[in-house]
Amino acid sequence: MANRRSFLKKSLLLSFTAILPFKFIRAATREISDSNFLSPASGPMVISTWSHGLAANEAAAAVLAENGKALDAVEKGVMVPEADPNVTSVGLGGLPDADGNVTLDACIMAPNGKAGSVTYLQHILHPISVARMVMEKTPHVILSGEGALKFALDNGFEKTSLLTENAKAQWEKWKASGARYAPQANWENHDTIGLIAIDNVGDIAGACTTSGMAFKHPGRVGDSPIIGAGLFVDNKVGAATATGEGEVVLRTLGSFLIVELMRNGMSPQLACEKAITRLAESVHVHKNMQVGYIAINKAGEIGAFALRSGFQYALYQNGENQLLNAGFLLPWE
Ligand code: ASP
Repeated sequence: MANRRSFLKKSLLLSFTAILPFKFIRAATREISDSNFLSPASGPMVISTWSHGLAANEAAAAVLAENGKALDAVEKGVMVPEADPNVTSVGLGGLPDADGNVTLDACIMAPNGKAGSVTYLQHILHPISVARMVMEKTPHVILSGEGALKFALDNGFEKTSLLTENAKAQWEKWKASGARYAPQANWENHDTIGLIAIDNVGDIAGACTTSGMAFKHPGRVGDSPIIGAGLFVDNKVGAATATGEGEVVLRTLGSFLIVELMRNGMSPQLACEKAITRLAESVHVHKNMQVGYIAINKAGEIGAFALRSGFQYALYQNGENQLLNAGFLLPWE
């Protein structure tokens, strides 16, 4: 391994030396940190956001236990909250937009760097599987709205009603309250699910799926289906995923930032903390704002951090699945 490392470093250095002036050589060589060459995690792992991550982790871990691939594990994992009518922030049972329509955002990213995404998709129980099909069957990364629905229906997905009685009643109550436009995140442990898995051969994949902010403006798309914002995977380095107020995650590209910080040698924990600090420095932080990140590197080290208290994540490792509290930057005001 050490020989391979020094060979790769030397050959990268030589190729840069051949084509770049001196100041760029220094910048380029500084980026070749040992984190790029971490030994892979010693066994399968799954990490996901919020308490609904526990059941999702179980499903993902079952795939990995059969020697399955990380990509299959992340899809199967997040399909659990997508199909759970009691999870009011993902898939079936998700709270609708201001017009009463349940609209879904989801993305998936594979170890080979490919990605697929759907935004503003209606009537489909498993948007994550449509996102995977976008990745595998089209030359595109994102399909949106009517086009995404057409693609799903053309490819055998069935149209279904996602608005449960409970979600409808909550929407009606919101409308009756004057329907002031103020999209809501619900922080009581049931929000967007972002899930990352490492399989038995050390490959990393990720998935992220949500019904977005409750009572959002029709047409609104959050961070969750946007590669680099809600999710980013680099199989050489690690992966990160986000939950929380999508607009500020979009504006700071948190998941991509975390993976880049890990690429430069930072631990997943410090990288998550740095991404939250950067966000707090660069956007207006209002009193109801919450954002949480989780991350994992190639060696299986994990990180989790949030803007405010209350963010929980589920970790499956060595046959144990547990719910953990993330650290946070600010108290609730
Ligand atoms: N990030 C999601 C969105 O903005 C919502 C959430 O995680 O609460 O749509």
